[in-house]
Amino acid sequence: MNIELFNPATEKKIGELAADDKDSIAKKYAAARAAQPAWHRLGVPARLGIIKKFRDRIEKDLEEAALTLTRDVGKPIAQSRNELNGLLVRLDFFLAETEKTLATEIVYPVDRNVEAQNSASLPLIEEIEHEPLGVIANISAWNYPWFVGSNVYVPALLAGNAVLYKPSELALNSGLLMARYLHESGVPAEIFSVICGKGDVGAALVEQPIDGVFFTGSVATGHKIAESAAKKFIKVQLELGGKDPAYITDDVDAKAAAEATADGAMYNTGQSCCSVERIYVHEKIYNDFVLHFKATVAAFKIGNPEANDTYIGALTRGKAAFDFLQGQIADAVKHGGRIVHGGGRAQTETGYFLEPTVIENANHSMALMREESFGPVIGIMKVKDDAEAQKLMNDTAYGLTAAVYCRDTARAKNILHGVNAGSAYINCCDRVSPRLPWSGRGASGVGLTLSTYGIETFTRPKAWHIK
Ligand code: NAD
Repeated sequence: MNIELFNPATEKKIGELAADDKDSIAKKYAAARAAQPAWHRLGVPARLGIIKKFRDRIEKDLEEAALTLTRDVGKPIAQSRNELNGLLVRLDFFLAETEKTLATEIVYPVDRNVEAQNSASLPLIEEIEHEPLGVIANISAWNYPWFVGSNVYVPALLAGNAVLYKPSELALNSGLLMARYLHESGVPAEIFSVICGKGDVGAALVEQPIDGVFFTGSVATGHKIAESAAKKFIKVQLELGGKDPAYITDDVDAKAAAEATADGAMYNTGQSCCSVERIYVHEKIYNDFVLHFKATVAAFKIGNPEANDTYIGALTRGKAAFDFLQGQIADAVKHGGRIVHGGGRAQTETGYFLEPTVIENANHSMALMREESFGPVIGIMKVKDDAEAQKLMNDTAYGLTAAVYCRDTARAKNILHGVNAGSAYINCCDRVSPRLPWSGRGASGVGLTLSTYGIETFTRPKAWHIK
């Protein structure tokens, strides 16, 4: 079966590819399994050299990669460039940290000479070695394909694994470009192979006798993958959705907080797992905040994603996403919400572009405040104090990130300590750091990527007892 690829902004066809099937997936799996031990034996320094070439190739061909990404998913070109420049920083982190993170650790005796002197017999040595998992599946999303893909496959490859990478069917040209750059940098074709297809192909991939599955995507698909993988005893990591809250306390500059959270809500056309999805504002500054938020959003340029100054691009899932968001907006209005900006389809000749939509007087009877929107729409709700804000922030099945804007760090920390989220932001939002673990709680998933933990996660320990 063939998959047709369309640019969501122009609705023009940008490619057609043969999808994988059970047989081709099984062949790619078998080739990966056969090639993986030699890739492991190559050693960390040699693999670091290859990934350094990959990093430099991205830097050199950044414009090609940015344009491919923009045409795949409708992302504004400046934001595609930002994704690739941000990726270079992540790759530099992995290049700097992998060798010491994966070095075999002697945990006993701490000082071998002292131990030998004090012991009548030979000293016992205990070591932890980080062995690769083997052959892993990486099933990925379309919204930040370079980020979410390489958070997995780069440390996995560095640790000595073979990777069967299934890019989203909505970001397939970018996935193929990643493979080309990796292969031309020296990663053997069998060690990193692209699995092309839609959900059925992803499901068939999980059926292979893989050693781990690392998934980024929706909660619904996460459930299916976890159920399928449960038949095997393998590592399962799921990075899923979010309904990330921001709370604006009464002691901050309303304008600065509005500008920052408007960007956190609307950047990447609101299609980020850690987009600000709901905002609570202390009643003392509520009116001011809403005014500044509206003014900020009104200045966002919407339209042609290939124009340098565009801020809001096309909805990647097109009509389906547009209809879903219209449903959330109508439901919010039915439950007392007031649209202060946007709400409709932007006037473009092709594609589905939703005007950045701001709804005030929001409350938790609205789907807008409880279910992931994944688009340029935000609900703003007035609260009377920190306790009410904290309770509402926790009124969700998700737990990816939470933000508090407050001059008093102790007060902000106190609020965020009581919020069930993997990342806590004070006076910032919608940010990911390579140095910090990226993890969700509850419906936002299990496991983590990034930080040194996100290197170690692609290994399993071998415990050595040596006498
Ligand atoms: P999706 O679940 O529709 O698809 C993700 C991937 O899973 C695609 O490659 C798809 O082909 C594949 N897939 C679909 N059905 C499958 C099945 N039954 N078995 C195996 N694979 C299958 O998600 P999406 O629309 O691509 O991504 C958007 C979602 O991803 C949002 O909910 C967003 O919050 C989430 N996300 C989370 C993070 C994070 O770090 N937590 C990062 C980015 C995106």
